[in-house]
Amino acid sequence: MTGDAALPQAVNVTATAPKTLADRIEDLLPQTQCTKCGYPACRPYAEAIAAGDASYNQCPPGGIEGVARIARLMGKPVIALNPENGVERPRPLAVIDENVCIGCTLCMQACPVDAIVGAAKQMHTIIPELCTGCDLCVPPCPVDCIAMIPVTGDATGWDAWSQKQADAARDRHDRRIARLAKEREAAEARAAARQAGRPTAASVAPEASEAKPAAADDAEAKKRAIIHAALERARKKKEELAKAGAAPKNTERVSAEVQAQIDAAEERRRRLGLQGDEASANPAHNDSDH
Ligand code: SF4
Ligand code: SF4
Ligand code: SF4
Repeated sequence: MTGDAALPQAVNVTATAPKTLADRIEDLLPQTQCTKCGYPACRPYAEAIAAGDASYNQCPPGGIEGVARIARLMGKPVIALNPENGVERPRPLAVIDENVCIGCTLCMQACPVDAIVGAAKQMHTIIPELCTGCDLCVPPCPVDCIAMIPVTGDATGWDAWSQKQADAARDRHDRRIARLAKEREAAEARAAARQAGRPTAASVAPEASEAKPAAADDAEAKKRAIIHAALERARKKKEELAKAGAAPKNTERVSAEVQAQIDAAEERRRRLGLQGDEASANPAHNDSDH
């Protein structure tokens, strides 16, 4: 046997960092990103538990099973959910009363998993498969047209929510965060370019700007089909309502306060470069990297 033969073969291993306690806790959370735990998303709550800054009984969507999961991981007793964070309940889905929606986009901006589609100043609709039931779209709606409808019968907590759904919600939330960061960076770059008197990406010919993204894969095509179907349903509904003389209220009929909210939302969209046809759906659903 030669010396070379005795050498171990190169092994193609992708090094992955070992999971931290926060990582392992995060894996156990339902990922609805609802903020009921008192933190802005599931990840910061996981970090707070790992650091000893938060108790492990503050997640109502996970319910008592969620508490037990973290208790097992940390070798602690199962304790009751903290009622200050809310109650364990059947999982709801958000439903928009499209006859009342004024298309202000505020719900879309509040949704942590990009489950809402719609055009500015037109009615919005929720993609049920993507809604985590987090409730976050309800408070910003200036015309109170979003209802949370329980859809899981008596099932609550993890009995009403699967690991697959949690993984998908986490993925969508991560992508949303990345997209918002990209949009912020782009807006800052445009502002800096304007200040310096340089042409912005939006002002140069399309062929001179970034190369087109690669062709969408099957998952991307499926997602676009779901979104297209949701928008098509909304369009048909709008037509039906118009025929019945019950078309959605338009933005001319809202109060000055609501109009100010709409204007602020529009201004944010303008700052992010989401105008005209680009605003015809949630930008997340148009993103080529989604
Ligand atoms: S699901 Fe809601 S309450 Fe539970 S950890 Fe995530 S953000 Fe917090
Ligand atoms: S549609 Fe509303 S309830 Fe559903 S995930 Fe988005 S913000 Fe939450
Ligand atoms: S009125 Fe605004 S916040 Fe309410 S559902 Fe319509 S777009 Fe969303």
